[in-house]
Amino acid sequence: MIIGIIGSGAMGAGIAQVVAVAGHDVYLLDQSATALEKATAGIASTLRKLADKGKISADAAEASIARLRPTTDMRDFAGCGLVLEAIVEELAVKQQVFRQVEAVVSAECMLASNTSSLSIASIAAACQRPERFIGIHFFNPAPLMALVEIIPAVQTREGLAEEVRSLVHSWGKLPVLTKDTPGFIVNRVARPFYGEAIRLLEEGVADMATIDWALTELGGFRMGPFALMDFIGHDVNYRVTESVFSSFFFDPRFKPSFTQKRLFEAGYYGRKTGRGFYNYA
Ligand code: NAD
Repeated sequence: MIIGIIGSGAMGAGIAQVVAVAGHDVYLLDQSATALEKATAGIASTLRKLADKGKISADAAEASIARLRPTTDMRDFAGCGLVLEAIVEELAVKQQVFRQVEAVVSAECMLASNTSSLSIASIAAACQRPERFIGIHFFNPAPLMALVEIIPAVQTREGLAEEVRSLVHSWGKLPVLTKDTPGFIVNRVARPFYGEAIRLLEEGVADMATIDWALTELGGFRMGPFALMDFIGHDVNYRVTESVFSSFFFDPRFKPSFTQKRLFEAGYYGRKTGRGFYNYA
């Protein structure tokens, strides 16, 4: 099956690597040629490094790289069996992209979003054939994180979740089926994790390095909340928080913080811009 991926940022590039290694031809599309170049060079470099370390064979690395086709032209998706979107976390933009996709792909092509927080039903509602729409939510970095949430919408046809679950499993991932609710499983549990850490900081209970240290060294987390938010990107993480908060009818448990909002507004997105809670310059 040929797979189309829209968005070649952190998630789209990672997912493209996963499916190319699994043996699919992949069209990786982005509106930015620079982002596409960065993504394809990054994937090639990662796969060659894995080959150098003996984790995969050099032939497998080169074959996977050859299966990757960067494009800015959506017409290349015509032969795809699945198109998965990983663009900016904004409902109207995602809906518009799927209207364009449906004008190109066959009636059988499955459509999926990697959204962290938006309702799958609301994205599907923009489609002419919403029954072929589903959420496939990877975690960052997609090549390393085994968990993938599979989220059928109310419109999704019976059987599609099972088909997608087997497909994702064949990519070496561990899929879990969740209901179409804000933040699904992981991002819902994670909101109070980030929110409470920021409140600790705002109240002066401890500084962020201490909070991160306590949770990694003593709490057993792989990354502390501030390092993790900087890694995810505040553009993504703040939008997800706002989206979960409003989707839960403004339940104060999920209230965003001004501290993070200001980072977002300033363009201090974290690692990707060299500055977030921490300075990476
Ligand atoms: P990103 O900013 O790294 O990448 C987004 C890419 O999409 C950019 O290259 C941009 O040029 C491109 N793009 C934006 N609008 C487009 C359009 N209309 N057409 C084509 N390309 C377009 O973002 P990301 O971190 O990869 O997140 C993407 C999606 O994945 C979001 O929905 C986010 O919520 C979700 N997600 C993110 C994470 C994470 O940790 N970053 C984890 C899981 C899911």
